[in-house]
Amino acid sequence: LDADDVAHLRSLLSTPDSSLVTTIPSPDGSWKEAAPEDLVSYNVDWMDKYHGNSPVLVKPKSTDEVSKVLQYCYQKRIAVVPQGGNTGLVGGGVPIYDELILSTEGMNQIREFDDVSGILTADAGGILESLSNFLHPKGYMMPLDLGAKGSCHIGGNISTNAGGLRLLRYGSLHGTVLGIEAVLPDENGTVLSINMPGGGGAGALRKDNTGYDLKQLFIGAEGTLGVVTGVSIMTPRLPSAYNVAVLSVPDFASVQKVFKETRGQLGEILSAFEFFDHEGLEMVLEHTGAQSPFESAPEEGAEKPFYVLIETSGSNKDHDDEKLGSLLESLLENGTISDGTLAQDETQVQSLWSLRESLPEAAGKLGRVYKYDLSMPVKDMYSLVEEARERFAEKGLDKDGSIKTTVGYGHIGDGNLHINIVAKDWDKKVEQTIEPWIYEATAKRNGSISAEHGLGLMKAPYVGYSKTDPAIAVMQQIRRLFDPRGILSPAKYLPQASELPLQG
Ligand code: FAD
Repeated sequence: LDADDVAHLRSLLSTPDSSLVTTIPSPDGSWKEAAPEDLVSYNVDWMDKYHGNSPVLVKPKSTDEVSKVLQYCYQKRIAVVPQGGNTGLVGGGVPIYDELILSTEGMNQIREFDDVSGILTADAGGILESLSNFLHPKGYMMPLDLGAKGSCHIGGNISTNAGGLRLLRYGSLHGTVLGIEAVLPDENGTVLSINMPGGGGAGALRKDNTGYDLKQLFIGAEGTLGVVTGVSIMTPRLPSAYNVAVLSVPDFASVQKVFKETRGQLGEILSAFEFFDHEGLEMVLEHTGAQSPFESAPEEGAEKPFYVLIETSGSNKDHDDEKLGSLLESLLENGTISDGTLAQDETQVQSLWSLRESLPEAAGKLGRVYKYDLSMPVKDMYSLVEEARERFAEKGLDKDGSIKTTVGYGHIGDGNLHINIVAKDWDKKVEQTIEPWIYEATAKRNGSISAEHGLGLMKAPYVGYSKTDPAIAVMQQIRRLFDPRGILSPAKYLPQASELPLQG
């Protein structure tokens, strides 16, 4: 990237002074050079783990501008990293070297909302929480929710196939996303509009069986096939009745027992079932100022309890209260749960949820966090956390203070375990003790090395633990078909993608 590129890119943008930020000096004073710190937050990820060195950030205002930028990058073979809210946890959204950063920050308009079908069509840069705030007064909500909602973009959510806290009830984005608009990194900067209103062809339909379902490829593609610029998504009705309870159980077997009972007794009103361990709760209480929901702490030397968060949402409060009440009564009576708190108002709903949602933030305050997001049969989940702790103790990493704590939490309802290993610092010795051991341990349990965070830079070399060689080869071919010159996030997502011949 040089001054000629910057000058050309500026000529493609309608508001170049606000849409292009660069540290490359202008030879003739036609733009004001940015200070290096202006680009820092775009070059570093949320965990401060992955650092790039890009001198150019482009924030297009429209799909047409994205198309012109990608067309130019294709011609000049300029590597590009698409970026949304930069909350991804696998190093996918930041440059590794000096790739051009293409941010969707400038594209955040709501295109249309149909309040009969609940179908929302929006630009890719819409912040998840802003979209929720737009929908709530209309009686609708987004079908997904995650701790990063205040920053992540819907385009980023789609590109990472984000799961989050509502997947149990509303399913994955593979089911709720109806249409996608994306720009391809080819010689024309082709705009691909799939089942989008006004994009030509069928638009935002629930049912469309005409050919390969191309939009599915973009869900979870992490910016390797094209830049997502717009989305049509089904939004559910906002429930009028909510309940949240946090329960304490003596062991992980009881977590599973409560889950089974809860599904059986609450049925259609169950909307979330989360768990966290005692180490996780202690970390949150210490680092976020949250209050324990329980009257007493476990006694010194006693077995450490586990916690589950149950959320119900429905349309009839009395009905939901009765169902949840009788579930809690039966669990208390048969001794499956030892303690519990039921939220009495909206403030308590928020504070109980924040115990679970602030786990990533609390871990970040304690140290450098090696995060693993795995899926596997629920029965095998927690033995992995215990095995990790034993491994670190054997290697003396807990005694010498390299590892401060290891916590397990996650979306039990989806078989999704998050292990956060909090270290004193980023440390090769710690990393090599964890990887690839953790991926092998996951594969032994027939699990997946990425349940919802994706592959990015972190897991690209390890995808073979969850996918067969023929499957990886087909994925590499698909990638080349969409990105013939390999300009989108090269070196990420798949192993050895560069070994396939580039075209053109
Ligand atoms: P970015 O981080 O900017 O990018 C992520 C990836 O998508 C990158 O590979 C990037 O190149 C690509 N990308 C971004 N936008 C586009 C686009 N328009 N077109 C093409 N490619 C694009 N994830 C979960 O699944 N569930 C959770 O519960 C969850 N909780 C989280 C809690 C916290 C506190 C944090 C920090 C993260 C959490 N995440 C969770 C991670 C999650 O992946 C991201 O928060 C979110 O989906 C990424 O959106 P983003 O806009 O920040 O994308």
